Amino acid sequence: MTAQIIDGKAVGQTVELEVASAIERLGFRPGLVAVRVGNDPASQIYVRSKAKKARELGLEGTERIFAETMSEDDLLAEVDRLNRDDTVDGILVQLPLPKQIDAKKVIDAISPAKDVDGFHPTNVGMLHLGRPTLVPCTPAGVMRLIESTGETIEGKHAVVIGRSDIVGKPMASLLLQRNATVTICHSRTRDLAGVAREGDILVAAIGRPILVTAEFVKPGAIVIDVGMNRVGPEFGQTIAHDPDKTRLLDKNGTVLLGDVDYARVREIASWITPVPGGVGPMTIAMLMKNTVTAAERRRA
Ligand code: NAP
Repeated sequence: MTAQIIDGKAVGQTVELEVASAIERLGFRPGLVAVRVGNDPASQIYVRSKAKKARELGLEGTERIFAETMSEDDLLAEVDRLNRDDTVDGILVQLPLPKQIDAKKVIDAISPAKDVDGFHPTNVGMLHLGRPTLVPCTPAGVMRLIESTGETIEGKHAVVIGRSDIVGKPMASLLLQRNATVTICHSRTRDLAGVAREGDILVAAIGRPILVTAEFVKPGAIVIDVGMNRVGPEFGQTIAHDPDKTRLLDKNGTVLLGDVDYARVREIASWITPVPGGVGPMTIAMLMKNTVTAAERRRA
């Protein structure tokens, strides 16, 4: 069996169209503020692209950029100011933060009603209770990708590898809400491949390049690869069986790999997400959706 590809760009565009028409219905431009502290290169790209995408879709997207030396008190004061600004519907503070700032304190300070990343303990609790809330963007996007296959979720065994607060745990909650039987794996799981192979749905959110090989995958499973790992020539041997990735590595000196061995796993799965072009495009799209949802609820 060769898997069908789940096209994250196409599903992401559908979500973006929903966002644009929801904004038209609202009749005003919801405001999203992306806060960055310091000069982490990945954070610079993420924050810029989030604010840009917001503006493209008709939101008011603003970047607030502060020096690496910013104090915790000053960032908390900025969050407080944004909480009280009625034109701001969504606030996100890009992680990681410089070491003098406790990220937990900052997340806790964001108003749950404006917490479009869905990281505030109130929103986390609401998600676990199965109540409507702002859901973390990456797992929310994964649910849309699984839904796009048209396959039923109810009754399936879903195995999630990874238990982070931003991906693995909320992913498991969302699958459970949809009546999947859910197993969560992590670095201490015994016989990881054996447990993973029980999954009708397998979500890999690990951050280890192509750890999930064919022996982890039940034939016919839906495989979602959240991992994004940029690797260099030291991976040449490991990806020698994958002509597409090898070509990219030879051409660019680096290549983006998922947590899943795409070339081999696609031969046995029923559906699979590529990296890039799978989960990645969904994350920003769901952030926009959360901002519109926050605006609708707060200004209702
Ligand atoms: P994280 O916080 O580092 O969590 C990784 C999880 O994987 C942990 O629960 C860890 O277990 C588990 N793990 C690590 N090594 C393992 C192993 N050898 N066997 C089994 N489990 C193992 O990472 P994250 O933030 O969840 O992100 C995971 C990946 O998704 C990363 O590649 C990240 O770049 C990517 N990501 C992509 C998007 C997107 O938009 N596409 C968004 C977010 C994240 P322990 O808890 O036991 O340590």
